[in-house]
Amino acid sequence: MRVNIYRVFSLLLISFSFVSSDTLEAQVGETRICKWKDDKIGSFTIGADDALNSQLDNMVPELSKRDFVATFWIVNKYSFTSRNKEWRALPKQGFDFANHSWTHRNIANIDEAEEEIKKAAEAIRQFNPSQGRLLLWCRPGGTNWGKVLTQDQENGLLKKYGMAHESGGPYNWGGRGQNQAFSTRNSKNIWGNKSFDELKYHVDKAINKGVWSFLIFHGIGGDHMKQDLKPFVEMLEYMEQNKDKLWFPTCTQAYKYAKEYQTAKCNTSKVSKDSIVINLSSDTDPELFDYPLSLITKISSGWKTCKVTQNGNSSTYPVKNGEVMYEVLPNKGEIKLTKAIASR
Ligand SMILES: [Zn+2]
Repeated sequence: MRVNIYRVFSLLLISFSFVSSDTLEAQVGETRICKWKDDKIGSFTIGADDALNSQLDNMVPELSKRDFVATFWIVNKYSFTSRNKEWRALPKQGFDFANHSWTHRNIANIDEAEEEIKKAAEAIRQFNPSQGRLLLWCRPGGTNWGKVLTQDQENGLLKKYGMAHESGGPYNWGGRGQNQAFSTRNSKNIWGNKSFDELKYHVDKAINKGVWSFLIFHGIGGDHMKQDLKPFVEMLEYMEQNKDKLWFPTCTQAYKYAKEYQTAKCNTSKVSKDSIVINLSSDTDPELFDYPLSLITKISSGWKTCKVTQNGNSSTYPVKNGEVMYEVLPNKGEIKLTKAIASR
């Protein structure tokens, strides 16, 4: 009887180890799309409205010294006119721009609206082509735009000029009623001073809910709707403490990633000893949505580094714990992972 129990037990052990190694091999090539870049928990971004002096003087230096970026909803008014050279230099530091109309003024008809949108879009694309064609849009506040333009007319203009709308319409920022993880309800306009705790709440929301949360400021330590500098800097310090949890891109980049991810699908079409082939698609238009998604693929034991090739471009990534994390574009062709020899 005792012998029999041992026999059963060892048989179980053998079959268990056989199943587990078999399962491991079967998992090779298994791929998941990270909800946020580099598999971070959430994303937090900073926006700034109106192109103000205090943003150049106070906000940009505090962000830059911590390698943070932001999106500026510029208008050809305030310091954008008087300090144009400084504004145009910002993309070199990773900042980007969004469309807030050309002059932030009242309009008489749809033609004037189109002129305002077109001029701003052309200016941004001319001095920062690297941010891609898609531009975020926010209607100039305190103007008559809402009375002159119907939502359909505005949506038509936004579609024509490749722009994303804050509250609906073409390429909306997440869309009310759609996936709440990316809803504009996670954003807040700062119209006046907030304490550090009030600002921190929005950073924590990104961590606690795994969403994209963002704040849009006006004046920083000066100008209209002023946010005091001290709580703002404390917020940046708090962001630094949470660098391993959160991704801090520009608003435009977070938006592209979120929209691509919403409908992204991947499948592994081929697995061999030295290579894996993966396809990645999304419902988004690749001409507008051109930000790479982070993928994690299970790799055969023995791969130390992995070369990832898509559309003629290759990069090499380290393999950690039998997995490789890498960046590729949806709707841009087959992705090939090959076993790479580590360079010495
Ligand atoms: Zn404004």
